[in-house]
Parts: sequence; structure tokens; C-alpha cells
Amino acid sequence: MFVANWKMNGSSQKVENWLSSISSSQNLNKCIFCPPNLFLEEAKKIIKKNNLDISLGAQNVDPDIEISLTGGISPSMLKEIGCNYVIIGHSERREFYKESPELLFDKAFSCLEKNLKVIFCIGESQEDRDSSKTKEKLSEQLRLLSDLNLEDFSIAYEPVWAIGSGKIPLLEEIADIGSFLNKELISLGQKQDEITILYGGSVNTSNAKQILQLESISGLLIGGASLDEKQFLEIIG
Ligand code: PEP
Repeated sequence: MFVANWKMNGSSQKVENWLSSISSSQNLNKCIFCPPNLFLEEAKKIIKKNNLDISLGAQNVDPDIEISLTGGISPSMLKEIGCNYVIIGHSERREFYKESPELLFDKAFSCLEKNLKVIFCIGESQEDRDSSKTKEKLSEQLRLLSDLNLEDFSIAYEPVWAIGSGKIPLLEEIADIGSFLNKELISLGQKQDEITILYGGSVNTSNAKQILQLESISGLLIGGASLDEKQFLEIIG
């Protein structure tokens, strides 16, 4: 599985060019394209028109709650325009918008109710890493999953210090965290064959293949490098 997270980048023209450039990949069916929500509908039209076997994901969603919420986008709206996945808990939103575990739970619960698959991001800060608290921090972030149905739930392990920095953990460290998360997810009730653990954080054409070879990692969440169609194509193979 390859998640292309464009963050706050792109335009409708870029969506069209990007989809056309990657359309020949044999692994298109393993990709989830996450442009800004504003371009999802346009992307869906192009995907349909050209019969492309790629999934669409949103970078954010609001929980389905009974309040009026100016600017809100609900899981049903995303579903209606052909979106199948939603990224929840990205560290940028946790940091800048102070998204709390309670809010993340409500978002995830609302998505699962509407049959949207969740890509849930977790990761330690540089400070957590320096004080050997990585696993403790990850367990803490996973805790809210205990009351959710995890059938349609993937985890993206994204060390906060690795996102956009050009730095990644050692391959042994990623492998070790992958195995650790696998055990944690089993103890939270997810079945082994439902577990998908992605790695994200400065993935590029030089490190992607080695990360993908790790047994405990089944895909990549790609930010910066996904904006460049040549790099993205090389990563997905
Ligand atoms: C991300 O957007 O979550 C991400 C991992 O970004 P980058 O690949 O640019 O580090």
C-alpha cells in the first residue's frame, strides 16, 4: 500500500497531470491518492473517466456529530464523492490544531460507521526518542483504538522528527517498531490478517525499497516525494 499525501499542495491541473503520469503503473491498485479535500471530486471524475484502479483518500475529516460546524466536512460527504480512505491523527494536525485523542476517536468512529477505511498516524517526537520513550509514546497513542472496530484500520508509523526532515530511523529500528506495533494491535483486538503497518517520514527513491523489504512494514505514507510523479512512480515500482 502506498499513500500519497499531498498535504496543502497542488491544483486541479496538477491533479490531472499527476494521475495521467502515474496511470501506467502496474501497482496503481496499491495506491491511495490523498490530495487536498477540495480536489477530491475532480480527482474522482478523472479516475472514473480513465478507468484508473487507484483509491482516493482524504487528509482530514470532521466527526459526525449533532452540532452545526461551519467549514466542516463529514464522513458521509467524503463517501458520497467516492473517497474510501481517511488519514486521521497526522502529527501536523495534532501539533497545529491540538487534535486531542477524544477528537481523533470521534473522527475514527464516524469514519468506520460510514465504511471509510482509516489510516491512523502515530509517531514519537525527537524529545521522546532522545529520552527512550518511543514505544511508550506509541502505546499511548494507540490506546484509543481499544473501543474501535479495527477491521478497516491501518497504522502509519511516522516519527515526527522524520517528517520532511530528510532523516529516517535505522532500518532495524523501523523493523523493531513494526513488530512492536503488530503485538500492540493484536492485544487491542485486531486480527493478524487485518494488520497493515505503514512507514512514513522522508520516504524517497533511495530508501523506499529497503523499507518495503522489512517484514513488519506493509507500505509507505509518502509526503514530499509523492508530489513529484517521477519519484512517486519510481517508489511504487
Ligand atoms: C507525511 O506527509 O506524513 C510525510 C511523511 O511527509 P514526508 O514524506 O515529506 O516526510
